Amino acid sequence: MKLITNHYINGKFVPSHGTAQYDLINPSTNAVIGRLTLADEKDTQDAIAAAKAALKSFSKTTKQQRSDYLQKLHDAVMERADELIDAVMEEYGAPRARAKGSTLDAANNFLAAKEALQGFEFVRSVGKSRVLLEPVGVVGIITPWNSTYGFVCNKLAMAIATGCTSVIKPSEMSGIQVQLLTECLDKAGLPPGVFNIVTGLGDVVGAEITRNPHISKISFTGSTVVGKIIARGAVDTMKRVTLELGGKSPNIILDDADLSRAVPLAVAAGFANSGQACIAGTRLLVPESRAEEIKALVKETVAQVKVGPPHMEGTSVGPMVSKKQYERVQHYIQLGIDGGAEVLIGGPGHPEGLEGGNFVKPTVFVNVTNDMTIAQEEIFGPVISMITYKTDEEAISIANDTIYGLHAFVSGTDLVRANRVASQIEAGRVLINFLGHDALAPFGGFKQSGIGREYGVFGFEAYVEPKALLGDVLG
Ligand code: NAD
Repeated sequence: MKLITNHYINGKFVPSHGTAQYDLINPSTNAVIGRLTLADEKDTQDAIAAAKAALKSFSKTTKQQRSDYLQKLHDAVMERADELIDAVMEEYGAPRARAKGSTLDAANNFLAAKEALQGFEFVRSVGKSRVLLEPVGVVGIITPWNSTYGFVCNKLAMAIATGCTSVIKPSEMSGIQVQLLTECLDKAGLPPGVFNIVTGLGDVVGAEITRNPHISKISFTGSTVVGKIIARGAVDTMKRVTLELGGKSPNIILDDADLSRAVPLAVAAGFANSGQACIAGTRLLVPESRAEEIKALVKETVAQVKVGPPHMEGTSVGPMVSKKQYERVQHYIQLGIDGGAEVLIGGPGHPEGLEGGNFVKPTVFVNVTNDMTIAQEEIFGPVISMITYKTDEEAISIANDTIYGLHAFVSGTDLVRANRVASQIEAGRVLINFLGHDALAPFGGFKQSGIGREYGVFGFEAYVEPKALLGDVLG
């Protein structure tokens, strides 16, 4: 049982001023494995004051100094990578391969930011003027539970690279992971106050960050509902916002696709991060002419997917993070059935023998139409809805018929055609015959999937304010 009673403010672990307690659970068993003392408004204000004080000198650091800090942060995370991976498996339930990949990716965010920084010019000439890109100020960073290290490290990397200081509010459900990550980041030896970490509830700590006038920008990843609350609150003090929100990503299999590649990719994209992924390819768009063939292959592929606790060899789908999340997925599976969709594989309830944890059956629905709730709303579990189409134009139209626009996938053999289809999808990233990440490419959403972009130079642009000098400008 881990007791977490400190927050990280001004370069030190300090006792929580807040007194409310929050139980941390192992989602594979629902056993309580830790207790977190939640930060309150006062802890948050202290963290903001520290970040504001640190901004004065940190905003004046050179690119070289900040590159060195990014390297140190990377090294400090890698130093304890094995422990970090174990914590993800225990507290979040990610299977080992996923836990490992996401931890290494998180560390790599610092190196990717360092690389992008080399080519980023903070002083530019435009027309007859000079433009200085200045750090936006103190950044409030608010993150969800489904990839805690990745979101915290990437947003922190963006802030460090651009000379901003930050107050980080991770999800209260990730207390153990956050504690360990904070110990790593602390070891990097950055000046006090450059980053501060206060874990508490969204409507307490998150709300204080949203309204506090000393925060200049919020970088948020989470649900569209909360993103809207933050955006509304942020406008009172005209904070800049970067919002990374929900998704309902289409995956178009074109009729010339090599199904031996496209189907495993589709299943992996749909069940990525045990389905608890904003980018998951949950709407599988298949050509009517090959629907039966694809159905059979999907069923065969999903039957091989191993669900279980993270330590079990070969597991690729772990438990849902909480009982609440388990119930949410069950609710949608039932809605699918009640709405007339047909379960191809999976369905309601726990997989046999896994009743003690928050495990769900990886599920694929067929006979789905795009207007059904299961095709429109984010389920955030391993549930794929298969929808048939007749022409490429119809596939594109179905793909775009959603309030979201975060990610999309296209599989096809004729690359000119696949690229043509990809270019017509309204989404921040479209992956062609591919499942993966590029830490230098922009990431973010069209439509209600968010505002702004993260990663690489596009990410930096969101952390700086351009100031133009006109007239007798010294060059
Ligand atoms: P959530 O929106 O409930 O919470 C996200 C964070 O916001 C948490 O730290 C939470 O405590 C905080 N929060 C809650 N209420 C708040 C408020 N009133 N003011 C300020 N902060 C508040 O999301 P979640 O359940 O933690 O994560 C799942 C959601 O995140 C899904 O919708 C998923 O699509 C989305 N997500 C998006 C991306 C992306 O990059 N686009 C990535 C991962 C997850």
